[in-house]
Amino acid sequence: RDSSTSRGLGDVYKRQITLNEKLQFYYFVPTIFFGFSSIICYISYRPEKELDIMNLHELIDRLHKKHTLTKEEFITLIKERNEESASYLASLAREEAVNIYGNGVFPRGLVEFTNYCKNNCYYCGIQGSNPNANRYRLSKEEILSACENGYQLGYRSFVLQGGEDPHYTDEVMVPIVAEIRKRYPDCAITLSLGERSKESYQKLYDAGADRYLLRHEAADPELYQKLHPESLSLENRIQCLWNLKEIGYAVGTGFMVGAPYQTVENLADDLLFIKELDPQMVGIGPFVPHHDTRFKEFPSGSVELTTYLVSILRLMNPHLLLPSTTALGTIDPRGREKGILAGANVVMPNLSPVAVRKDYSLYDNKICTGEEAAECAGCLGRRLASIDYQLVFSRGDYIE
Ligand code: SAM
Repeated sequence: RDSSTSRGLGDVYKRQITLNEKLQFYYFVPTIFFGFSSIICYISYRPEKELDIMNLHELIDRLHKKHTLTKEEFITLIKERNEESASYLASLAREEAVNIYGNGVFPRGLVEFTNYCKNNCYYCGIQGSNPNANRYRLSKEEILSACENGYQLGYRSFVLQGGEDPHYTDEVMVPIVAEIRKRYPDCAITLSLGERSKESYQKLYDAGADRYLLRHEAADPELYQKLHPESLSLENRIQCLWNLKEIGYAVGTGFMVGAPYQTVENLADDLLFIKELDPQMVGIGPFVPHHDTRFKEFPSGSVELTTYLVSILRLMNPHLLLPSTTALGTIDPRGREKGILAGANVVMPNLSPVAVRKDYSLYDNKICTGEEAAECAGCLGRRLASIDYQLVFSRGDYIE
């Protein structure tokens, strides 16, 4: 044995191991390193995403089944939303709407009969203190002629909306409603005149009005007060809604999406309030700034969040009459189509005389202010046809 080259079995073994180790090092270590990093990445990224999607799907399925969620769950559903959950939610919402109402969308002929208003809602372009608003009032004859025009075009549902104009006392308003009821017994009459006494609501109901739209605007008192002057209170607004229900109106409420200072928690409160009120209609649309208001620098609400909430509302009550609002169409040329595809089933084409349309300026760049009523209906019909829906000219009552 050469003691200089061979220093015992242990040394021979040591040399062989060193060689193997080298090979292993170049082959296995990078493999182990990359394998390990991939596992770390998978654990820290993929499952979390999958978990989110799973959680959201679970929440959506629960909402679909139980028609409500807790406040915390609504917050998660809104905060964690992504394209995938929105598309799942919208597909269920569409399915529900189609199951109950088919592929039809109900048009309501909107007559914006006055832009005078005694209130000063901070977001609204026709608030009483805006000196730049060009004020108008339609006479009884003008309102009736707008309805007649609508009736000839096929409308069987009219909405009379206006600012809170003290000119339209019960003495003025009741005969208008009574005359529409007399002339068009087959039509639904919806009023949207703001806050009035219970007695006044009762008289209008007795005169023939069927439905009333009064958005609660914000269910959180703090937010409500950030959007309105002290003279207006959430308490009264909500009392009005309960009064309307008690009288027997089909009631519509709602809120703006993306209103200044609005948080996701506020939206969850809005949804829970709607659950409690259990209205037949819910109108939500994006907030859109008006250049003459203190909120002129605030950004508009988004189509994406508005349509997401439309889908949530549809799952909360599959029977709801849910408009795809003009405000949606204002911030996105295909906004109303997107609203329908998210589960809405009502549109509100304008029947007001073209001469006053521009003056009912609640927010900037409002669409459909230059077209005749017939053009509006034609345009909407074509838009709906492009997404395989159609206008259904009927009263469009709430189906229990
Ligand atoms: N005076 C009635 C009332 O108070 O219910 C009806 C007329 S009010 C102008 C109709 C609705 O317009 C309000 O409920 C509000 O949500 C909406 N609106 C007002 N200003 C808006 C804005 N800047 N952006 C989006 N919607 C607005």
